[in-house]
Amino acid sequence: MTGLRHALVTGGGSGVGRAIAHALADAGMEVTICGRGMEALEAAAKEYSRLHPIAADVTDAASIASLYKQAELERGAIDVVVANAGIAISAPAAKVSLEDWKRTLDVNLTGAFLTVQPALSGMMARRSGRIVFIASTAGLKGYGYVAPYVASKHGVIGLMRALAAELARTGVTVNAVCPGYVETEMLERSVERIVEKTGRTPDEARAGLMACNPQGRFIQPEEVGSVVRWLCSDGSASVTGQALSISGGETW
Ligand code: NAD
Repeated sequence: MTGLRHALVTGGGSGVGRAIAHALADAGMEVTICGRGMEALEAAAKEYSRLHPIAADVTDAASIASLYKQAELERGAIDVVVANAGIAISAPAAKVSLEDWKRTLDVNLTGAFLTVQPALSGMMARRSGRIVFIASTAGLKGYGYVAPYVASKHGVIGLMRALAAELARTGVTVNAVCPGYVETEMLERSVERIVEKTGRTPDEARAGLMACNPQGRFIQPEEVGSVVRWLCSDGSASVTGQALSISGGETW
């Protein structure tokens, strides 16, 4: 591996983030995981070695600054940042509240920017580092009933491209991964909402979402972890500015 030793994964206590944290720990890195509540983070850290929990809210710059301070004091400079924390709220566009619109943009887009910004100067000075945004196929195409989510994820792809252009000469790579539906709690919440709004059974709701993937299945969190691990390896040093679809061919 690249000599990268310390990774930060936001939302690393659950779902996709936890699988990414495991993949990077398996690659030999110490992994700081953050989320808003310590309980889930501590449980995740207890079940896997090399994971280190720190509570932080990605929408709060001061909270992220203190996370960096503590993590870098304890484990050295952060040289991999995975901006994974995210939320999804569904409603017809005509009924989306301003509060839900702002909250989604705040966590998914501004939160992603606040997560990576403190790492930039150090990575550029060391001429080494990896930044990975966990976007979504919703960053590459439109879906109904999730307008704030789709807008935020398209924004994340734009942010990734801007940073990749700005950092290309520094040896730091910046990429996004774009999973289709991944089998996590976020997906279960979507299934519950579909059941509630349409009267379909949970199996029918799941089948409808699964049909988006031409391979006819849900993506597993470990598959996302494995792509992120590769993006942090020596072999991917020339890969920057890319939005990698992990969707069984739903988008490309
Ligand atoms: P999840 O709900 O299991 O995890 C989301 C994580 O983000 C949680 O750990 C939560 O604590 C954290 N989080 C939320 N708001 C936060 C905040 N303000 N500050 C710090 N942490 C915060 O969902 P998941 O499916 O694991 O999603 C992880 C990422 O993957 C998200 O960005 C999501 O948009 C993306 N994604 C998920 C799917 C899917 O189908 N599950 C598909 C494509 C992309």
